[in-house]
Amino acid sequence: MGAARAMTLSGGRTLVVGLGESGLAAARWLVTQGSRVTVSEQQRVSDLDKAILGDLLKSGIELELGGHTVKTFTETDLIVVSPGVPLDIKPLAEARGKGIPIIGEMELASRYLKTPSIAVTGTNGKSTVVHLIGDMLLKGGRNVFVGGNIGRPLTHYIGGEQRADYVVLEVSSFQLDTIQTFSPLVALILNVSPDHLDRYADYNAYIRSKERISANQGRGQTLILNDDDPVLRKLQPKDGPTVLRYGLKGRQGRHAFLDNGQIKARLPGGETIALSLDEFSLPGDHNTANVMAATLTSLALRVFPGAIQEAVDHFRGLPHRTELVDTVGGVAFYDDSKATNIDATIKSIASFSGPVVLIAGGRHKGSDYADLVEAASQRIKGAVFLGEASCLLAEAFGDKIPWCKAATMTDAVSLAFDQAREGDVVLLAPACSSFDMFRDFRHRGAAFREAVRRLKNGAQGKAPS
Ligand code: ADP
Repeated sequence: MGAARAMTLSGGRTLVVGLGESGLAAARWLVTQGSRVTVSEQQRVSDLDKAILGDLLKSGIELELGGHTVKTFTETDLIVVSPGVPLDIKPLAEARGKGIPIIGEMELASRYLKTPSIAVTGTNGKSTVVHLIGDMLLKGGRNVFVGGNIGRPLTHYIGGEQRADYVVLEVSSFQLDTIQTFSPLVALILNVSPDHLDRYADYNAYIRSKERISANQGRGQTLILNDDDPVLRKLQPKDGPTVLRYGLKGRQGRHAFLDNGQIKARLPGGETIALSLDEFSLPGDHNTANVMAATLTSLALRVFPGAIQEAVDHFRGLPHRTELVDTVGGVAFYDDSKATNIDATIKSIASFSGPVVLIAGGRHKGSDYADLVEAASQRIKGAVFLGEASCLLAEAFGDKIPWCKAATMTDAVSLAFDQAREGDVVLLAPACSSFDMFRDFRHRGAAFREAVRRLKNGAQGKAPS
């Protein structure tokens, strides 16, 4: 684990590219290791938090703000690049040409990690599964650190006393692009569907990025794969980790599946356990699959089945993931602002059995909306399109469903309400990123919630259709 791969940082120069949460954590930790740290950030001083900048300067960190210069990148011993920064920008290419190592914050922290890690990747469901695993381990009496891509960076953990039994990490494809030695005890790939095609050369490049989570695994480690996913079903690592597969139906080679509404799970050579879903509160087959992934992880870590069941029964889901906001005039408003790609939106719509009015749109990420139109046209009764992608969505849906466009979230909510009848669902599941109009998916979800609140304050009851 950690120490063998640790580098000498003391006295060396390190450049941290990007001042997001993980970049900030890395920069601060590197200073404590005696490294001479520079941060290069594209945003200007006026866009950044003054207190944080002052704090960084006080600790001796040099700042290059408002853009990146090649010289800063080529006159350093190590570059730690944030997941939001494309790896093909010119200064990074120049540094690479000079042989300067370029890694991400997760790779850096993992070299100093003394605790076994569980790493979860996939296009969708990472946060949900990470929290499910965290809850199962806690109920099973283990100490855990839960963090990674969204939430607390791994660096926060290695900067402390490293007292957990396991760290449970959400890992994005951008983070996997900058790993070299990271080797989790248990790795999970939940699913792969087109996403981030604005960053990757093509879909295959994105798939290869996800598969890197297992690249350094070997015997004694475990890889957990969703066998219902056509890409992952074909994945067969050679001479490496133990592979555990799960899927909704019982088939040969599956270690978890559904049987009469219960999850049956078993490790190779182990006893089968049965898990009830009666108290599980999250909707949709995709969330059942998420429970299977977490259950296999927990079994691999010898968690008592009763603890797994207890965690499933008490799990309440995360904010902005198919979250019921309120009901206005008999119409239920659900916030799935985190559905930032087409597959997540499809799965979200499929969670509802009744009529759905969809609010979608935002910043286009390069995927084709044809799959959404095919999967959703039969299931949604109308849609409101918002943001930069609204023209593309309108074009894709054509005359398949009634739709209209909105300029603001407030308008979108009120236009969706106009299309809905008592008993219907209005679902914010944008299939796009939020960055055209909002800071992030949380900000977008909060705007939706606020618009629903205002609607409720001004609304009359709906007449039944
Ligand atoms: P991530 O961290 O990968 O973005 P989340 O758990 O935050 O995943 O869920 C993001 C969205 O993806 C949710 O709002 C939900 O609609 C959808 N989702 C969750 N689990 C799955 C899954 N297993 N397959 C497809 N979509 C999913």
